[in-house]
Amino acid sequence: MNQDNLAVGLRTARELIGRDKDPILSEDNPFEAMMARFDRAAELLDLDPGMCKVLREPERQIIVAIPVQRDNGELDVFTGYRVLHNSARGPCKGGIRFDLNVTLDEVKALAAWMTWKCAVVNIPFGGAKGAVVCDPSVLSINELERVTRRYTAALIDTLGPDSDIPAPDINTNERVMAWIMDTYSMHMRHSVTSVVTGKPIEMGGSRGRREATGRGCMIVTQEALRHLGLPLRGTKVAIQGFGNVGSVAGELLEQEGLTVVAISDKTGGFYNANGIYVADALSWIREHRYLAGYPNADPISNAELLELDVDVLLPAAVENMITRKNADRIKAKIICEGANGPTTPGADKILDEKGIFVIPDILANAGGVTVSYFEWVQDRAGYFWSEATVIERLNEIIQHSFQDVLSVAKRHDVNMRTAAYMLAMERVAAVHRLRGIYA
Ligand code: GLU
Repeated sequence: MNQDNLAVGLRTARELIGRDKDPILSEDNPFEAMMARFDRAAELLDLDPGMCKVLREPERQIIVAIPVQRDNGELDVFTGYRVLHNSARGPCKGGIRFDLNVTLDEVKALAAWMTWKCAVVNIPFGGAKGAVVCDPSVLSINELERVTRRYTAALIDTLGPDSDIPAPDINTNERVMAWIMDTYSMHMRHSVTSVVTGKPIEMGGSRGRREATGRGCMIVTQEALRHLGLPLRGTKVAIQGFGNVGSVAGELLEQEGLTVVAISDKTGGFYNANGIYVADALSWIREHRYLAGYPNADPISNAELLELDVDVLLPAAVENMITRKNADRIKAKIICEGANGPTTPGADKILDEKGIFVIPDILANAGGVTVSYFEWVQDRAGYFWSEATVIERLNEIIQHSFQDVLSVAKRHDVNMRTAAYMLAMERVAAVHRLRGIYA
């Protein structure tokens, strides 16, 4: 992979939607957003207050200094985080992001979301998340490699196929996962493929992993349309964020007969009532890096995209995009949360009142970690599956999970988000009760 390709691969989600320009983004702290949903679900589950304390507290929070020599010879020190939220159901699992504005609170929220996500789809993992505070767009490929390797070395005691397994997240990709695997393996003195997922296929990655999050979004959208009695053909979709999640989901939804009418990245959005051909937009990006100037649709802003008269809205960029300030103007019938935490608790209430069917992040984007689980299983077995097998098993888990969440929602007369939290928290609490508290 040459440097240009890596740079494109590492285009930040911030770049995809221009987060730092948007004033609505300071509205909610992601950790508080997670806790607000947690508290509501705990109340409905009538969860023991002691158990609530256990579930809300991350098991470990690690802050490391990452000294790195820049290409010009100067020394820089970056800050790295890794939060292990809960390991009751299995090794902690979750991505690593490189982001200049990332905070420990955000990583804590994202780690807890991973615990709930793995429990919603019932895979035997707990939750974790990691981050390095840096702007990868100003680092050379060699500097990025040194940052990644030093971060991995600093976490060598927590990482491991049975304890803590990273994966890609915002601004990290297969190449970064390869460096993590190699660094860990050098320390262990033998190759350990299962320490990280989202690796290149040549070195133990899984077929279908790259597309898995977008594919999961497509599957839950289909399930939601079926549940609401809406057709697939001609259903209009708007996608915010055209990275690995948004563009893959768009392509797959298009294959199912839906029409993608709007897409966006950090340079803005594009709208065409007759449909935007996703492959055409992707080939424009390959040539021009950004959507800016895309000739086959009309330019709109990211804010306008969210408020379009469409059937399905797919926020696939970063946190806090749908807030109490814009929720009232959203017209979609279904919101499929491709990103983690795109909707604030204030917005939840308004969307509920409007009768919008929200497929929550911890269900909607769980396809990625589900195929990470398949990757880990394949690495440990040393036996690799065909893409058809991966897709078939992913379909089964995501469809099943959607129906599980829907039945909790019906039984308790709550929305899909609250139902997903209730299902997940009860599953994690049940394991804690069985295991007991070691003293
Ligand atoms: N970063 C992805 C997520 O937020 C994937 C995590 C994983 O595969 O471990 O779900």
